[in-house]
Amino acid sequence: MSETVTIVVKEALDPTPAQVVILQRYADASRCSFNYALGLKRGAQQTWSQGRDRLVAQGQTPAEAARNAPKVRIPGQFDIQKIFLAKRDEPLPGPLLPGQEPRLLYPWWKGVNAIVCQQAFRDADAAFANWKSSARRKGGPVGFPRFKRRGRCRDSFRMFSIRLVEEDLRHVRIGGERGGQPAFTVRLHRPARRLARLLAEGGETKSVTVAREGHRWFVAFNVRVPAGPPPRPTRRQRGAGTVGVDLGVKVFAATSDPLLINGTGLQLFENPRLLDNARRQLRKWQRRMARRHVRGLRADEQSSGWKEARDQVARLHALVAARRSSTQHLLTKRIVTQYEHVALEDLRVKNMTASARGTAQSPGRNVKAKAGLNRAILDVGFGEIRRQIEYKALLYGTTVTVVDPAYTSQTCNRCGHVDAKSRRTRDLFTCTRCGHATHADIGAAINIKARAQHSHPAQERPEGTTDVP
Ligand SMILES: [Zn+2]
Repeated sequence: MSETVTIVVKEALDPTPAQVVILQRYADASRCSFNYALGLKRGAQQTWSQGRDRLVAQGQTPAEAARNAPKVRIPGQFDIQKIFLAKRDEPLPGPLLPGQEPRLLYPWWKGVNAIVCQQAFRDADAAFANWKSSARRKGGPVGFPRFKRRGRCRDSFRMFSIRLVEEDLRHVRIGGERGGQPAFTVRLHRPARRLARLLAEGGETKSVTVAREGHRWFVAFNVRVPAGPPPRPTRRQRGAGTVGVDLGVKVFAATSDPLLINGTGLQLFENPRLLDNARRQLRKWQRRMARRHVRGLRADEQSSGWKEARDQVARLHALVAARRSSTQHLLTKRIVTQYEHVALEDLRVKNMTASARGTAQSPGRNVKAKAGLNRAILDVGFGEIRRQIEYKALLYGTTVTVVDPAYTSQTCNRCGHVDAKSRRTRDLFTCTRCGHATHADIGAAINIKARAQHSHPAQERPEGTTDVP
């Protein structure tokens, strides 16, 4: 059986202060390597575009000039590695002051496992290829890959030579550099039982990323595991049948049927209050950061007040992300383990119609500005919930159906009448024809469920029947 699935297992690290210094050095080397590779690519790209511009100046059309311009090879990972190896021992140019130690032109690779730099070169290949192909892709070109700036980018590095210490499952061993930094062992915040189980079941570690989020360091293993025989839904899942899920902003999910959580059946999942609280704090520290910022100074030259605010902002971002993530995981797991079929809306279509619908539902309110503010968070959240439901569905034998989202929030569950006016307030749906009243988001979830059942009537099988292969 050659089918495999890739699972990401992320664990928090508890490094010692000395180890934090090493992790930061690795992350700095990764950033510098990425920038070095991107710089070489950009140089080559500019040589080519200068050739093209000369032809345009001689009277060729831009399309002709692009075809006829002398080809310039864009260096890839292995070219860059070769160029770098030849240059990495070069001293910093310029005279030495008396008593000054000679310094390297590229000091960042010292004391760092070479794989960190190679993986960053490879990431630069991917970023450049993404930019190149975006011109031919639907959805508009993306900008030229950005250089990563210290303090502005996510601190992270990728390696293969990180492995779980299987004797106690409490540590990971991170590769060192020949003749310099020895390999070192970092403690995990909790035992990596799930990772150990995946490895024991024949999982293969493809790559490992170490990243800082706020003050915490995390390690994420990409494990490729053989896909076993597809699991069968349980008797309870088969008995429960289909659940429709409506994703939104205030109520971030509503379900057509109850989900059992801590012994209570729930259908509405509000965005946790704690998030709002953290957001208020976040705004406070962001304002302070803006107030204390001195223009023209680098991050490390700013005042200690600014740095404190910056650290608080980073901490709160990490906190909000962790809370949101744990709520999403709880929800998506309950959905796929308690039902046999899950019906979702096609989110790309939903997002296109969302702003217009929102305006119709609550005219006079500041829907557009709010929507803009939340849009980015929302898009990521919608996509993430769907991604989680889809991969978890595979683990529990659950099927996922995606339905057309048009008018799911304006259609009456009882009589099928479609009318935007039926949605009296954000929460309340009262049918303008038959008077049927329900929570608007639950009503939408019920419509989503009905649509899935309508388009796949064969999915509703009586209990006890089996598939004939
Ligand atoms: Zn009705």
